[in-house]
Amino acid sequence: MSIFAGFDVGSLTTKAVIIKNKKIGGSAIIKSGPKPVESANKVLEKLINETGINKNDIKYSIGTGYGREKITFINDAISEISCHGKGAQWVLPSARTIIDIGGQDCKVIKLDKNGTLIKFITNDKCASGTGRFLDVMAKVMNIDVSELGKISEKSTKPITFSSMCTVWAQADVIKFINSRRPAEDICAGINSAMANRLSMLTNSIKVEKDICMTGGVAKNKGVVNALGKILGCRIKRIKKIDPQLMGALGAALFAQESI
Ligand code: ADP
Repeated sequence: MSIFAGFDVGSLTTKAVIIKNKKIGGSAIIKSGPKPVESANKVLEKLINETGINKNDIKYSIGTGYGREKITFINDAISEISCHGKGAQWVLPSARTIIDIGGQDCKVIKLDKNGTLIKFITNDKCASGTGRFLDVMAKVMNIDVSELGKISEKSTKPITFSSMCTVWAQADVIKFINSRRPAEDICAGINSAMANRLSMLTNSIKVEKDICMTGGVAKNKGVVNALGKILGCRIKRIKKIDPQLMGALGAALFAQESI
């Protein structure tokens, strides 16, 4: 059996994907704990339980994500930028720009037609423009972050923020809740603010079509659609796999190529 695995230890979630006979053969996601080594061990255990594979069945494995150097059982480690690019290009060969938004950073990655990385840019200095911004706002709204996209669909008059700073934006949300603005308008305003912040990063790299989004925030349709409007083109949706798994998928694909 040829099984290759990728493990992505992110700041908020830890992901694993296996490639079995050249196809996606299973995956697992858990919340990251404070110690990357423990998160990696736990996701491996979940992967084994859910797919029924044996640890020894894995021919080669690669780690990625901020905690990749701490994983004890992998054969090699590769940066998230390369892994997200690799995964996205495999799922959507026409992808030239990949916008990866995770819990604590945002990356814009440009590929050429062969999938080779030509440029990238990151924001890991400020919470606005990262999943953390959405998590904080969802908490203030007393909803789950996964509901932000759906609730915002009904909005007719999205709120606007006085500042993009996460602390001040949080105060704005509290103010709008207290002045009884509809939840859909507040959620739409949060998604738009996030998209505006992302567009500052994308504008500095000159995005090229096709554009796709990866990372957990790609599951928020409100942010994806708002960013598409600002960029003036549709952001392609990834259907073959959960976009949050893209880094782990890329790592598994690199593992497959290593043999
Ligand atoms: P990391 O790799 O840095 O751990 P992820 O790629 O897992 O981060 O993304 C985490 C972010 O994704 C969270 O901060 C949250 O905003 C967003 N997210 C996670 N799940 C969902 C969901 N079901 N719907 C919308 N957004 C989500």
